[in-house]
Amino acid sequence: MSTVSAYSATSATEPLTETTITRRDVGPHDVAFDIHFAGICHSDIHTVKAEWGDVRYPLVPGHEIAGIVTEIGSEVSKFKVGDRVGVGCFVDSCRECAQCRAGEEQYCTNPGMVGTYGGVGRDGELTQGGYSGAIVVDENYVLNIPDSVPLDAAAPLLCAGITLYSPLRHWNAGPGTSVAVVGLGGLGHMGVKLAHAMGAKVTVLSQSLKKIEDGLRLGADEYYATSDPDTFTKLAGSFDLILNTVSANIGLDSYVGLLDVDGTLVEVGIPERPMQLMAYPLVSKRRSLSGSMIGGIAETQEMLDFCAEHDVRPEIEVIAPDYINEAYERMLASDVRYRFVIDTATI
Ligand code: NAP
Ligand code: ZN
Ligand code: ZN
Repeated sequence: MSTVSAYSATSATEPLTETTITRRDVGPHDVAFDIHFAGICHSDIHTVKAEWGDVRYPLVPGHEIAGIVTEIGSEVSKFKVGDRVGVGCFVDSCRECAQCRAGEEQYCTNPGMVGTYGGVGRDGELTQGGYSGAIVVDENYVLNIPDSVPLDAAAPLLCAGITLYSPLRHWNAGPGTSVAVVGLGGLGHMGVKLAHAMGAKVTVLSQSLKKIEDGLRLGADEYYATSDPDTFTKLAGSFDLILNTVSANIGLDSYVGLLDVDGTLVEVGIPERPMQLMAYPLVSKRRSLSGSMIGGIAETQEMLDFCAEHDVRPEIEVIAPDYINEAYERMLASDVRYRFVIDTATI
């Protein structure tokens, strides 16, 4: 075992503080790497605050992890020391169920993927995430970061990037389709960039027009404020696909009304409380409500290669580790442009 520095949450209410954790010895199939950068996802905040259920503290969050390989196990064939690598939201799965065999490990049913933090690994130990100096992960759950993507920009792709890429692909976003992205935060801004790169018409639906210049620069064709009731009359029936990235509970009825016949509203945000929805807006135009969670390893690699090829990078604010608690507060106030990335080399 090795000891590494980390930032952990010790309760739902106290600030994250510096600590040390241990990483397992490198097994035959494992890759060990120094973490250079870790993105801050709103899921880290939901989890730390126990909004999604009980948490075993102390917990080290972080599932947007990028770094450089320092050691490989004797059987490792996909990576070598010095490679630029990443890890996203899971570090293992059963590898046997239909979903795992289909390369959609995020939907593993036996009993489920092993989260990068807060999960229980094969060794029975609680997994700890990327707000730390180094990590050891089975090679099958490690991604290759293309040379042209800097490590700090690569980190947010591993959750925010794939979480938007996967539904855009699944619902065939591209030329001739009209996509709306609700919420211009970490996930939302990746949705705008990716949908634009895929050739779709993209509209941002944000709480206000405060970020309109950014939105248009990121690739949006149109930008509306949801605080303006006219938005919902003007855009009624306009979209084939709406991706809701909002981290808080919002009334979905008015958004369903923005879908065309057969359009789909996809939840990617995971607010704390149950969602409420009237049946009639769905029924009256054969609209669908769905959800989508990150993406499998193969699709995540495809997304990284797509971003390299199409020059898609997140907009990031690199922070020192002692700024994590302030970054959380700013994200809760929707004050992020557009992803905080921790310089973990300085932990
Ligand atoms: P984020 O950076 O904090 O962005 C969330 C955005 O939602 C904000 O920037 C804001 O956009 C909007 N928003 C926040 N509070 C709102 C409110 N009360 N009313 C209306 N809009 C509000 O968060 P994120 O990291 O993108 O994550 C977003 C959500 O996705 C979280 O719930 C997270 O847990 C979830 N998530 C899901 C997956 C998945 O696999 N499905 C993966 C990662 C994250 P505007 O300022 O533009 O309005
Ligand atoms: Zn995430
Ligand atoms: Zn499985």
